Amino acid sequence: MPRCAVCGRDVNAARIAYIRGGIFVCDDCFPQYYVKEICRLVQRRLKGENPIACIYCKYRKICDEHISRTLKSLA
Ligand SMILES: [Zn+2]
Repeated sequence: MPRCAVCGRDVNAARIAYIRGGIFVCDDCFPQYYVKEICRLVQRRLKGENPIACIYCKYRKICDEHISRTLKSLA
C-alpha cells in the first residue's frame, strides 16, 4: 500500500489526493502539501505581495497559517 509522504500513514487508493513520481499524499495532508510544495504564489506572499488569485484559493486559510508561522520563524 502506498504511504503518504507527509504523515507516513498507509493510504488506500480511494484516499490518495495527489500522486507524483513515487510521492503519494493523502486527503488529510493534501492542503498542507499543496501550500508548502505545489503553490508558487506562497513565495510571493512571503515577500509581502498579495496575488489576486489567492483570494479565490480554497486553501487560503491553511496558507495564511503557513505564512504567519513561516514569518514568525524567520523573525
Ligand atoms: Zn497524510
